[in-house]
Amino acid sequence: MYKSVIGLEIHAQLLTKTKLFCSCSTNYGEPPNTNVCPVCLGYPGALPVLNKEAVNMAVKAALVLNCKINRFSSFDRKNYFYPDLPKGYQITQFFKPFAEDGYLEINLRGKKKKIRIERIHIEEDAGKSIHNKETNKTFVDFNRSGVPLIEIVTKPDMESPEEAAEFLKTLRQTLMYIDVNDGNLEEGSLRCDANVSIHKENEPLGTRVEIKNLNSFRFIQKAIKYEIEDQRKKLESGEKVFFETKLYDSRKNKTYTMRSKEELLDYRYFPEPDLQILEIKEEEIENIKSEIDELPVQKAERFMSEYKLSFDDAFLLTSSKYLANYYEKIISHNKLPKKTANWLLSELLRYVKDIDTEFVNPPVSPENFAKFIEKIEKREITGPIAKEILPELLKSKKDVETIIKERGIKSISSDEEILNIINQVLEDNREQVIRYKEGKTKLFGFFVGQVMKATKGAADPQKVNTLLKEALNVSK
Ligand code: ADP
Ligand code: MG
Ligand code: ZN
Repeated sequence: MYKSVIGLEIHAQLLTKTKLFCSCSTNYGEPPNTNVCPVCLGYPGALPVLNKEAVNMAVKAALVLNCKINRFSSFDRKNYFYPDLPKGYQITQFFKPFAEDGYLEINLRGKKKKIRIERIHIEEDAGKSIHNKETNKTFVDFNRSGVPLIEIVTKPDMESPEEAAEFLKTLRQTLMYIDVNDGNLEEGSLRCDANVSIHKENEPLGTRVEIKNLNSFRFIQKAIKYEIEDQRKKLESGEKVFFETKLYDSRKNKTYTMRSKEELLDYRYFPEPDLQILEIKEEEIENIKSEIDELPVQKAERFMSEYKLSFDDAFLLTSSKYLANYYEKIISHNKLPKKTANWLLSELLRYVKDIDTEFVNPPVSPENFAKFIEKIEKREITGPIAKEILPELLKSKKDVETIIKERGIKSISSDEEILNIINQVLEDNREQVIRYKEGKTKLFGFFVGQVMKATKGAADPQKVNTLLKEALNVSK
């Protein structure tokens, strides 16, 4: 039996307005080469000036990842040739990163595990090559060149593809909570490389293989799983695993070699002479610390103790800061934490495609949704009716009271009214009543259905149940 070992390297784009060493905009999706200047195009003689906002965001991220912040760190040049790298080198922090020795706790179905973080460094992004198949030409867009990133390097602490995915999920959520990253894996604002090795118990770690650019939670799991299996087959047939860099092909569900050991790049790192030593003062760290709000895990734990929610509900509600804020606003109006959580999670979320973005501007105002829940609680509308009007509540932005009035919804709540309807139903279905009496008790559901239909869903189902049972017992 082999044990697998996984370490991740994650690049996260910092949400600054401008680039790391110049004042060009970082806006995504603008026409190619419109956000460029001599600095980020690598013109000779152009000098970089460090963006303080980027450093602050990086420090914030390092703090929530429980890292030690280095008072002094420095920048280095990583040299390599590629068309999307106009300077011929990338500015990064190789010899002395600004943060080290942290951890992030993940929750594996209730079991907690700390994944250690080796280091975090600040670096600039490269441009983007665009390959056009029709013209068989390659174009380069430098809008991304010089955009600020942090690279987070974990220790090889993960043991399965699921753990690696869970780490990435938690990291993404944490960085989004503190507003330093937008969490967009598809657009590349969060990129993940996975290092994978296997070894036998009580033996030293195996040789790792690095898989580059995994851009979805699903692919990261599938790629690692494939790689573990591939290495196992190699070792079992007497072959060796060599260090190499691979890419994952999601269509074929395979990893394949991009660079082998022989092609190992020599980056000829050396200190960047155009930038000063980066000093981060204790008081700056304290200021940044004071800006950090409650984090997802703390929020979930508070939701469980303060609102008596289940682990699953609290976990889901706090998965996005905006969803959590929305929930708390609703219950500040209606003081119904349990019922609100139920309706929010099991009904409203069915109409929401993306929890992360859609609650920045919620589909229905918290006041209106609070009132909606209140009406259910007071039995002014029944569950089935509430479910029926929910889509309109979301789409029309109308007040829940207006919708009820316009649809002419009346709730039938008096026992007398319900009994009248029940008696009518029993009268109309004499044969079924007889069969019920003869022992075909399954027919009870049929009667409930008939009554609910006759009331057009306006009667409280629980009351219908009770009254119907009584009525059937006395009827002949
Ligand atoms: P490099 O800078 O060449 O990428 P590092 O030593 O910084 O190499 O390691 C990169 C990543 O590889 C880290 O996330 C680390 O946890 C992981 N790693 C190191 N050794 C192993 C191993 N034997 N198996 C799996 N992952 C490993
Ligand atoms: Mg690496
Ligand atoms: Zn620029």
